[in-house]
Amino acid sequence: MTANTGLSFEIEANASPVAANERAERLIDPGFGRVFTDHMAVVRYTEGQGWHSAKIQARAPLQMDPASSVLHYAQEIFEGMKAYRLADGGTALFRPEANARRFQDSARRMAMPELPEEIFLESVRRLVEIDRDWIPESDGGSLYLRPFMIASEVFLGVKPSSEYLYMVIASSVGAYFKGGAPSVSLWVSQDYTRAAPGGTGAAKCGGNYASSLLAQSEAIRHGCDQVVFLDAVERRWIEELGGMNIFFVFDDGSMLTPPLTGTILPGITRDSILKLAREQGITVREEPYSLDQWRADAASGRLTESFACGTAAVVTPIGKVSTPEGSFTIGGGGAGQLTTQMRSRLVEIQRGQAPDPHGWVTRL
Ligand code: PMP
Repeated sequence: MTANTGLSFEIEANASPVAANERAERLIDPGFGRVFTDHMAVVRYTEGQGWHSAKIQARAPLQMDPASSVLHYAQEIFEGMKAYRLADGGTALFRPEANARRFQDSARRMAMPELPEEIFLESVRRLVEIDRDWIPESDGGSLYLRPFMIASEVFLGVKPSSEYLYMVIASSVGAYFKGGAPSVSLWVSQDYTRAAPGGTGAAKCGGNYASSLLAQSEAIRHGCDQVVFLDAVERRWIEELGGMNIFFVFDDGSMLTPPLTGTILPGITRDSILKLAREQGITVREEPYSLDQWRADAASGRLTESFACGTAAVVTPIGKVSTPEGSFTIGGGGAGQLTTQMRSRLVEIQRGQAPDPHGWVTRL
């Protein structure tokens, strides 16, 4: 029984899990998001009854009625986090309470019930516990956890669903970038925006990602790795990438990142970098920064580095930025000093190789 919620997870182990030798083979080069574990967590919500039927069970396809409301109106939210091995062989999560709280914030925005933090944490803990052999041994390997919630009421009326399905699945991933972090090139989307004031930009809902795909395809077509979005009102201010926040580093040693005004996702990596940088005496401003200023500062040398950050890739240097009017390169085009330092500091804390004064690492 979980003390705080009164909800206990029934554990029904997979009767035919993947054999150890087959698992080892799949873990050699898992890539991202294609190799899945033996189990999944499931919790149901019914209006009037609340959260119930918590279970860890064999991972299997879902059976859904074609009129399930998520399939039509996209009432869906998700989270992304990693479980990884510590230097001493233990298993840990990085700031899982922050993911639990963001999941509640996303739920509120999408008119969905808030999952109690304790149920979120217990679902993740239980799943990692039963599937811990799926965490790759390789350096930089981890188990990517995907908690999500969908509207499951069978009804075609446009209204908040009266039933929901909350689940967690897990996927073995290799080092995001093999051999460290090469720089990425960005395409500045001028035709498409990601989020408008009053919209869902700060929520981690599937629709935000569906609407980013065309802009991302455009980035690829222009030979860039990722898209960076401008604000929807003035089409002037840098917001964030399709799946990462962004930081700028200046020649006076200060840093800047766009503020959380409701149109960008409040990244947990972003927040961790803000705290680490400020602790070591770096001035970090949370202020709007325009594309024109970015271009001018890169040309004058006032801007020395830019990097993207998020759970999947931690910290990634930005090399080249392309727009329909032409492109510009930041610094030497590779990883700058502060980018490299921020990346190492975070990774060392995450892996238990450096002190953890904030209690960010949760051992399982
Ligand atoms: N922005 C977007 C749009 C994202 O999808 C993500 C990944 N969750 C981030 C930023 C980075 O957030 P985090 O550091 O919590 O992974």
